[in-house]
Amino acid sequence: MKPNVVTFHYTLRDPAGRVLDTSAGGEPITYLEGAGQIIDGLDEQLRGEPAGTRRMVQVPAAKAYGEHDAGQIQRLPRAQIPVEGELNVGDRFQTDTDRYAPIVTVVALDAETITLDANHPLAGVDLTFEVDVVAVRAATAAEVEHGHAHGADGASACE
Ligand SMILES: [Zn+2]
Repeated sequence: MKPNVVTFHYTLRDPAGRVLDTSAGGEPITYLEGAGQIIDGLDEQLRGEPAGTRRMVQVPAAKAYGEHDAGQIQRLPRAQIPVEGELNVGDRFQTDTDRYAPIVTVVALDAETITLDANHPLAGVDLTFEVDVVAVRAATAAEVEHGHAHGADGASACE
């Protein structure tokens, strides 16, 4: 079956009900179904929903940003950390100057060592999306071929 391109607004909350992110007041998100453009659990649960749908979608961590992996936590000598200035628990920085380098979070500090967590900040967090489906249309041949949506109207240039 040919996939659709879906445009939606969302508000994302954590299990405590805190708003983590929202598209309200900004541009809605447009994605090609099944192409990995949004998290799996949301993509699967929005399948078949027509424009105008407003619903809550609950996505367990495993289908969102993954379970928290203890193997991604590393304790290192401070001297190995190329960050200037003071570091605090909760600080996040990139491990390299490459813009695709992983982002790590400082989870513990003492005089000699620093403990870094390379998990996504939302790893292990069950997510609740409040979704408002704005538009649904059939994907164009070019979109299917490229594996991504070309904007809400299908006519936008590739990124
Ligand atoms: Zn393209």
